[in-house]
Amino acid sequence: MQATDVLIIGAGISGLICATELRKVDKSVRILDKGRGLGGRRATRRMAGGRLDHGAQYFTVRDPRLQAYADDWLAAGIIKEWFRHLPEDSNPDGYSRYCGINGMTDVPKHLAKELDVCNSQQVIELSRDADRWIARTASGDSFYSKHLVITSPLPQTMNLLDATGLSYAKGASDALRAVRYERGLATLAILDGASGLPEPGGIKIHETPLTWIADNQQKGISPDVCAITIHADTDFAEAHWDSPNEVRGPLMLDAAAPHLSANVLEYDCHRWGFTTPTNPWPDPYFQNAGLQLTLAGDSFGGARVEGAALSGIEAAAAVLLGLV
Ligand SMILES: Cc1cc2nc3c(=O)[nH]c(=O)nc-3n(C[C@H](O)[C@H](O)[C@H](O)COP(=O)(O)OP(=O)(O)OC[C@H]3O[C@@H](n4cnc5c(N)ncnc54)[C@H](O)[C@@H]3O)c2cc1C
Repeated sequence: MQATDVLIIGAGISGLICATELRKVDKSVRILDKGRGLGGRRATRRMAGGRLDHGAQYFTVRDPRLQAYADDWLAAGIIKEWFRHLPEDSNPDGYSRYCGINGMTDVPKHLAKELDVCNSQQVIELSRDADRWIARTASGDSFYSKHLVITSPLPQTMNLLDATGLSYAKGASDALRAVRYERGLATLAILDGASGLPEPGGIKIHETPLTWIADNQQKGISPDVCAITIHADTDFAEAHWDSPNEVRGPLMLDAAAPHLSANVLEYDCHRWGFTTPTNPWPDPYFQNAGLQLTLAGDSFGGARVEGAALSGIEAAAAVLLGLV
């Protein structure tokens, strides 16, 4: 496989935006992702004729650099404002919560059209020779690059890097290792009629075991079938990480039932090993310039989609400084 200037591990929002920024200045970039789809935790799936966002539900924009992207996506009909206001917002006018027109994977799919993305390529081994990185994948392929950007959640990234034997952490190994993520559990359900959730079809729940219920039909991504997404809190996710779906699904559906006015036809559960970091790294990326290595993603500079996207933008700028 021909070497690229930059190899990026992860086709989530941070990796895709990082690659987009690097392509703007004509660097050759390849992205590897272990998943069959795009977007990482911006995830959408189909079920019984419905379409559901089961990871990130919406994204917000405070930084003008991400606003410029969002304006383009709005103009191109890729995203829309789902809603502006939740009862707990301190600002009575609220602020835009954006989602994809057909689901949260719309933006990743749109970005990937202009990029070289290799799916179903799980990087299992990294090494570095005199002037290049070598990434070996579970399918037996090898990829080469001058610079390596890794955007997986930091605990996964460090597992890969620790096995290289390289001294990559610049004395910050313990601090990097201290970045922690919560685990999460989603239950996805098809209803036999309208959910009965109030407008706009998404409610934050403040009583254990739930944190969120969304009606993907009201959201506009599941026009034919009422399909709901329910998220559990961390304590429930930890307690039921290894429970069968037949146990944890009904417990979450029972907790959601007082908010719903229709019956459940079928359901499925999804485990999230990494939701958001509890204590992200304070800077938007981590770089070892000597090794031509940059770490990015929502572990750096801020949890959530916006933090991950900004990390991708900042990481690209840092990569360019060291790339000749
Ligand atoms: C249930 C849930 C609800 C959320 N709700 C919201 C929300 O409403 N609003 C919000 O802003 N944020 C939300 N978030 C957080 C948000 O989804 C993330 O912060 C953001 O999507 C992270 O993007 P990223 O690019 O940093 O990482 P990811 O999206 O995780 O991308 C990393 C990619 O790396 C790939 N990868 C990992 N290891 C390897 C490997 N060895 N080889 C190849 N590929 C690899 C993965 O497959 C993945 O695609 C939520 C997250 C979850 C899980």
